[in-house]
Amino acid sequence: MVEKVECAVIGAGVVGLAIARRLALQGREVVILEAENAFGTHTSSRNSEVIHAGIYYATGSLKAALCVAGKQALYRYCEEHDVKHRRIGKLIVAIDEAQIAGLKKYQAQAGLNGVTDLRRLDPRELRELEPEVSGVAGVLSPSTGIVDSHGLMLAYLGEAEQHGASLALGSPVVSGTVEDDGIVLDVGGAEPMSIRCDAVVNSAGLNAQAVARSIAGVPPQTVPPTHYAIGHYYTLAGRAPFRRLIYPVARQDWLGVHVTVDLGGQVKFGPDFSWIDRVDYRFDESREAAFYAAIRYYYPGLKDGALQPGYTGIRPRTTGPGEPAQDFVIQGPREHGVAGLVNLYGIESPGLTASLAIADCVDNALGAQAAAAPRDVTRANMP
Ligand SMILES: Cc1cc2nc3c(=O)[nH]c(=O)nc-3n(C[C@H](O)[C@H](O)[C@H](O)COP(=O)(O)OP(=O)(O)OC[C@H]3O[C@@H](n4cnc5c(N)ncnc54)[C@H](O)[C@@H]3O)c2cc1C
Repeated sequence: MVEKVECAVIGAGVVGLAIARRLALQGREVVILEAENAFGTHTSSRNSEVIHAGIYYATGSLKAALCVAGKQALYRYCEEHDVKHRRIGKLIVAIDEAQIAGLKKYQAQAGLNGVTDLRRLDPRELRELEPEVSGVAGVLSPSTGIVDSHGLMLAYLGEAEQHGASLALGSPVVSGTVEDDGIVLDVGGAEPMSIRCDAVVNSAGLNAQAVARSIAGVPPQTVPPTHYAIGHYYTLAGRAPFRRLIYPVARQDWLGVHVTVDLGGQVKFGPDFSWIDRVDYRFDESREAAFYAAIRYYYPGLKDGALQPGYTGIRPRTTGPGEPAQDFVIQGPREHGVAGLVNLYGIESPGLTASLAIADCVDNALGAQAAAAPRDVTRANMP
């Protein structure tokens, strides 16, 4: 038997839950299909839990726009829904004179992105704010913060459920078909079933490309490549020596081994990154020496034996080694030609910060389909 539902959201990570909440608040019938037996067990619980300000992202990118809009929406949301968070602030540190140009570049880029509250710090101010950090200059980002990502997901889910959404755990989408009167999803798990949906949002994170490819009728040329990059975190034993998040000036695409502090006061260092070819969260302890070196670069007081293995997280990427940094990819009917379908690819950092803004974007993409020709793939605007 084929069940019927108005909207299916595939994936109960922070982004899928934000989308489900948004659609449910509009009075739509929503079912969230989650492969695992709990929500948020992948990238959404293996990250830095930072509310990013929106400093680094290229002007005009989705990351820049959705991070800045998402940050404001997220602070408001956390206040209104009692989600634990703290506007803790972040210090970007230049270790030597050569890195001061990097700080200037960040300030300029932040301004272009609409982040106008960054403040330059001289060495004296830097020492006063964070005595343990070594550097010749810094930039303070007061709007950077931290959030309890599990609490946030619970709040999104709770609100979605209050508005009629349901969460189906242990329900992996294994295939699907685009038909004239909807999209049929085949769901595996203990009680396999098929569901005919008016709208489908593919928010399957690391698995989003595989899910899109498994739906017959989605033009394969619109599905980007899949790449994975793993990041490791080490935790610091004992008292936190910092009051803020500390980031060195980045020397590569990602932001370098930085300091985050969670709401319980635990200091974490990371993530570093390396490319992997499948999802495997195992912790590689051989990275320890490289971590000590990277951290002592800006925190020379780090004692031998103070680091403990923490956890790993994996970035879903659409570009691979040696290729330019990617943007979020959000494809609606205008891009792939399938009415009622939105695919999200490469939702890496700052996806947590941007979750509410991504949900708005998905809603717009679904709304815009009314203007597009119904299920006429030949008239689609392919990327
Ligand atoms: C190391 C690291 C650090 C980060 N730090 C930050 C940060 O500090 N701040 C920030 O803003 N962002 C950060 N991010 C990014 C942020 O964590 C992600 O953008 C966000 O969690 C993505 O959420 P998601 O819902 O898209 O994906 P996920 O959390 O991965 O959720 C996808 C869900 O889909 C489910 N699924 C997969 N396949 C299927 C299927 N076939 N059927 C049904 N369900 C399926 C999965 O089980 C999973 O639950 C970081 C990311 C990484 C990797």
